[in-house]
Amino acid sequence: MAENQLGGQQVLLLPEGASRILGRDAQRTNIAVAVAVASAVKTTLGPKGMDKMLVSELGDIIITNDGATILDEMNVEHPVAKIMVDIAKTQDKEVGDGTTTVVIMAGELLKGAGDLIEQGIHPTTIIRGYKMAAEKGEKILEDVARKVNISDDATLQRIALVSMGSKNVGDDTTKAHLGKLVINAVKQVMEKDASGKTIIDHDYIKVEKKAGGSIADTELINGVLVDKEISHPGMPRSVKDAKVALLDVALEIEKTETEAKIEITSPEQMQAFLQQEERMLKDMVTKISKSGATALFTQKGIDDVAQHYLAKAGIVAVRRVKKSDVEKIARASGARIVTSLDDLTSKDLGFAGLIEERKISGERMVFIEKCKVPKSVTIFVRGGNQQVVDEVDRSITDVIGAISSVMIDGKYVIGGGSVEIDVANGLRSYANDVGGREQLAIQKFADAMEVIPKTLAESAGMDAIDTLVQLRSRHRSKEGGVAGVDILKNMIGDMAKQGVFEPLKVKQQAVYSASEAAEIILRIDDMISSKGRAPAGGPGGMGGHGHGMEE
Ligand code: ADP
Ligand code: MG
Repeated sequence: MAENQLGGQQVLLLPEGASRILGRDAQRTNIAVAVAVASAVKTTLGPKGMDKMLVSELGDIIITNDGATILDEMNVEHPVAKIMVDIAKTQDKEVGDGTTTVVIMAGELLKGAGDLIEQGIHPTTIIRGYKMAAEKGEKILEDVARKVNISDDATLQRIALVSMGSKNVGDDTTKAHLGKLVINAVKQVMEKDASGKTIIDHDYIKVEKKAGGSIADTELINGVLVDKEISHPGMPRSVKDAKVALLDVALEIEKTETEAKIEITSPEQMQAFLQQEERMLKDMVTKISKSGATALFTQKGIDDVAQHYLAKAGIVAVRRVKKSDVEKIARASGARIVTSLDDLTSKDLGFAGLIEERKISGERMVFIEKCKVPKSVTIFVRGGNQQVVDEVDRSITDVIGAISSVMIDGKYVIGGGSVEIDVANGLRSYANDVGGREQLAIQKFADAMEVIPKTLAESAGMDAIDTLVQLRSRHRSKEGGVAGVDILKNMIGDMAKQGVFEPLKVKQQAVYSASEAAEIILRIDDMISSKGRAPAGGPGGMGGHGHGMEE
């Protein structure tokens, strides 16, 4: 799919086979598609949301409650559906949670726009109104947000639990366990840059998974878990207080190095050649053991002879370790990656309290743990079968996103549909101030925000309209500002008391991205089939919003 500009209008190129659709018809079709995509994920929203089972053509099964995953796997063809999938991905990438929310909001914004178009309001007016509303909405969110201190583990734990809310990852005790792991992991890798800004690089929280055991066995490793074996049976299976060397060097003799120099003509020469090769490998190992290293990880290979000498020297070695893992071990242990053995000194070595090879569900893995101040950690996910560990992995990724978002700006909002009512109420009075035709669009935007409490109420079997009317009026009073959908009791309840907390950033990004997607889709009024063109990726310009992690 490609998107072009023709005299200010958007033209969307459809894959071959589709015919040209113009003006109102194009808009109607596109809105219908967006609404259809939103309804596909709507029923998964919140703790009472249902799971979806996705079956691929090959028969692979995924059972999930994760909006982004569902959309990603849904195999959508229509370009507008692809835009909807993209906003879920953007949301996931930027803030790690709220993917279902953003898609439902975008669907509702487009449904509202459809009503306005039928009433004769021009799409550009709607777009203008939506832009104003999104900006105002983000401000309202900021105003109602509460502050949290990063040492306030109880509040952080609530945010983690809400983020896991709808996922099938065990009972409350298990969820609390997972939440605690993530909070500790994020705190461990968190850093401040020169200007004092908090930086959390998710690459340094490695999530490694292996089916087997139970979810409760999931653990935080203060270091790195490498899916490799210790390379030689003669090496110890575990080292305490290990001095870690990291190499980007092969402990092998390159064939070309010797071939050019030696021409072998007799068995004696052959013997001498092999002896020389062995000596070179032995020298390499001597250099390593002279540095004081007791453990060695290299991205490259290790010759059998070198392995033998390493084992004799009591050094544990792992070869062909992924570059990304070597970098993580460097951050965890404080070791420097050395590219030439002649450079290796004791100063380059890192520290790990324990390096150990363990057999996990029949496979050997190497644990590099008990590092002193690890700036890289691993969450090792366990669970009954592959489906379970996959869903735990997805939930943990959501929680990492949610907790990082809160750590970065220190702010959260009240969930359970509560904050969306605040935004809707705020936007309605803003609409009155704005006046004009944009006012109508801002009002529609306000209505669209309420799709969240409405959907939550529906999932709890409550009357959606009744619930909305009551929530709106309660939120007008000061003490009612925390009212939301009590999913457990199927009634309106105090969401602050229940600790239904969500990161401010997640909501702001959702409002922004939903509005941006609606704009992109509303701008299209000409869909032409693009003969012979290979459908490309998503449209340009659907980037992040600057609520990103690197902020
Ligand atoms: P998303 O992919 O958008 O994060 P979720 O399925 O995680 O979707 O649902 C998130 C919604 O569920 C939020 O609006 C959140 O406030 C709400 N929610 C989560 N836990 C509770 C709860 N215990 N009570 C009421 N609402 C909740
Ligand atoms: Mg969520």
